[in-house]
Amino acid sequence: MFRKLLIANRGEIACRVIRTCQRLGIRTVAVYSDADANALFMRMADEAHNIGPAPTTQSYLRGDAIIAVAQKTGAEAIHPGYGFLSENADFAEACATAGIVFVGPTPDAIRAMALKGAAKSLMEAAGVPVTPGYHGEAQDEQTLLSQARDIGYPVLIKAVAGGGGKGMRRVDNDSIFMESLASAQAEGRSSFGDDRVLIEKYIEVPRHIEIQLFADSHGNVVHLFERDCSLQRRHQKVIEEAPAPGLPEAMRAAMGDAAVRAAKAIGYQGAGTIEFIVDVSQGIEAAPFYFMEMNTRLQVEHPVTEMITGLDLVEWQLRVAAGEPLPKTQNDLTLTGHAIEARLYAEDPEADFMPATGTLERLSFPPSVRADSAVEQGDEVSVFYDPMISKLIVHGRDRDEALTRMRDALIRTRVEGLRTNLGFLRRIVSDVDFRQGHIDTGFIGRHIERLTAPWPDAETTSRSPWSDPTGFRLNLPPAAPVDLRRMTVAADDHSTSDVIAPMPGLVVAVHVKNGDVVEKNTPLIVLEAMKIQMTLKAPRAGTVTGMTVSVGDQVKEKTVLAAIE
Ligand code: ADP
Ligand code: ADP
Ligand code: MG
Repeated sequence: MFRKLLIANRGEIACRVIRTCQRLGIRTVAVYSDADANALFMRMADEAHNIGPAPTTQSYLRGDAIIAVAQKTGAEAIHPGYGFLSENADFAEACATAGIVFVGPTPDAIRAMALKGAAKSLMEAAGVPVTPGYHGEAQDEQTLLSQARDIGYPVLIKAVAGGGGKGMRRVDNDSIFMESLASAQAEGRSSFGDDRVLIEKYIEVPRHIEIQLFADSHGNVVHLFERDCSLQRRHQKVIEEAPAPGLPEAMRAAMGDAAVRAAKAIGYQGAGTIEFIVDVSQGIEAAPFYFMEMNTRLQVEHPVTEMITGLDLVEWQLRVAAGEPLPKTQNDLTLTGHAIEARLYAEDPEADFMPATGTLERLSFPPSVRADSAVEQGDEVSVFYDPMISKLIVHGRDRDEALTRMRDALIRTRVEGLRTNLGFLRRIVSDVDFRQGHIDTGFIGRHIERLTAPWPDAETTSRSPWSDPTGFRLNLPPAAPVDLRRMTVAADDHSTSDVIAPMPGLVVAVHVKNGDVVEKNTPLIVLEAMKIQMTLKAPRAGTVTGMTVSVGDQVKEKTVLAAIE
């Protein structure tokens, strides 16, 4: 086993990897940006080295700087976590060249799964069912349009290099196909530097069920059962659970086999996940399942698998990377009870989930819950990275017990100092439809109004928990959802025309300059914070004055950025 490991990541996952290393007696090296100079993970590591300024391109994405720290400190291996460099084949290759073990698959395996279209072709050849659609080379508009017609609407256009829910457009008919294609291509180009797309049948009632895989360098491959990640908001996971509610044993076995076949087809090593989309329009019994993509890394939601298998997946990753065989065979692996994870984010569900920043004046969890946190009470949530505060994970003998524990844990969790999605999570796990397992990826979107209704304050909550799980009402009428467009206007339309930053963020585009004459709603400035981009539009027609910002500026919340005269 390694004696010293560098963690090329930050936040929750860096803390998570360090905890396993501490248990195994492995020394840890953290790398951090200026924005993380006092972060929990860097305090937890045995040593920590600054690798540059806050923007990820100047710090956490700088493979060369990170490898230099590994060499300087004598770290034998690098754990990339998830996100950042974890699926970067060039970085994995650079580690190997530098004589450092990359804790993950080979560069070839990463490349094989990097593009969704090529991965689907490979999987088809290996006998793994893939979502019906077109994933060929030809990219001319006419070919793509006629393929969409052959597949039959609705279809989903996906950027082949996409991720994090970006570059996807649902298309319902011919008339909007070209427009949607152009915007998916543009998003693919700007976010991933690749405008190629594939087209899929749009599954109207899907569940997202994924299989956790593990493979070693001795040819052994096992699966660690499934996770259900159907509770998504805008294609981003919110709640995950294992096992998948109601999944028949025969289907679990078939999906596990298909995933193992997929891993063998590319000579996979380490932890990986095959994401399947399951068409449950006719129910889950015998529902068709299709390969969507493979994530060649540890997954954010891996703790639910740990809870039902009793294993430490980071320990397995390190053992495999050190050349050891898998600790267990398929027959040794058992699935016990039910586990649920909820992602606690600094964001405001009442204002379209706008990311929030600030100081965590209070942060505490009941001892009954596993809290994998990125921060501690007193820490800052900054504008630069993912707004995840913590993951809460519970286990029970069955789904009902796990849900009761999660509900209880969320009720007893205290966060003060900034807006979070805690109330939203409480409403989801209290929801009767969710409790009965009536879930699909459209669940949150369909019920968004009742799920984002404000949660009663702490006192009210502790006095009247759960007597009416779906119908909680404040004494006050629920606040009307904030309309983001209106937040660009201070006071009313006629008396003032300031353009104000509704959130802290980075200026990524400025479309106008002082003196320009604009119409009402002309896009003026694009702000980016964490995972979202927001276009600030002209509050009314007039002339731009007082523009104070340019691309690359970091702005504070409620700052006046320009005015319309
Ligand atoms: P998983 O698939 O492991 O459950 P996610 O899909 O939520 O997790 O995200 C995986 C990784 O990709 C995380 O590190 C997350 O921060 C990062 N990520 C997700 N969406 C985006 C995005 N839009 N832009 C940049 N990084 C993203
Ligand atoms: P990403 O790389 O952004 O995670 P995925 O291909 O994994 O992209 O898809 C993300 C999510 O989009 C899925 O979890 C699912 O909710 C939805 N989705 C993907 N493909 C389809 C499809 N063909 N029909 C309906 N929904 C889909
Ligand atoms: Mg995905």
